[in-house]
Amino acid sequence: MSTTITPVGGAEFAERAAEELEEASAQEIIAWASQTFGDRLCVTSSMADALMVDLVSRQVPGIDVIFLDTGYHFPETIGTRDAVASVYDINLINVEPVRTVVEQDLALGPRLHGRDPGICCHLRKVEPLQRALAPYSAWLTGLRREDSATRRATPVVQWDGRRRMTKVNPIARWTQEEVDSYMAENGVIVNPLQYDGYPSIGCEPCTRRVAPGQDPRSGRWAGTGKTECGIHI
Ligand code: SF4
Repeated sequence: MSTTITPVGGAEFAERAAEELEEASAQEIIAWASQTFGDRLCVTSSMADALMVDLVSRQVPGIDVIFLDTGYHFPETIGTRDAVASVYDINLINVEPVRTVVEQDLALGPRLHGRDPGICCHLRKVEPLQRALAPYSAWLTGLRREDSATRRATPVVQWDGRRRMTKVNPIARWTQEEVDSYMAENGVIVNPLQYDGYPSIGCEPCTRRVAPGQDPRSGRWAGTGKTECGIHI
């Protein structure tokens, strides 16, 4: 693959890169990101599975992998994080909110997630990620167009204006079948909750099981009208 893109960042740069890379494979997009941003590139993982970690670490060994440790994760998610950190060639960065859950409960009252999930997500996910991403010029995500209606138009490269950095989504075009077959063929580590009715996994208080065939993300913040934590909007 050859490209004439100049690594300057910004909205116009990202739009041009998205156009040029729209038909490229995930591996080609990751290679482009690595060549373009060097060590100012990281990847985020929710530890629902290690698909992105597997894909990226094959081409960028030792890459920084950011995990948001909200204090509310299922034990299975923490176990998956630890397994991923020991199996793959990555540098796992465990990012915590300013306040522990106990400190937040004391300051703002218990179960903020049930009273105002928007503020809880901001304090435990959005702000810590903002802080963690500050040293980088670009981040790789596992966003896919199939994930939800709000992600249908996800480009493979976009400008993240809020954080003033480039966001790269190498598997944006992948279908669930492509995800399943890559994971099976490569023995990718999967969070065991995925085999127990949780196709989309977030914090324990805000994630419910979904019935087979239901929208995979319908178990997230069920009944609240909230569909995103705020990281990707
Ligand atoms: Fe809080 Fe729920 Fe958001 Fe986790 S997903 S940060 S518990 S509101």
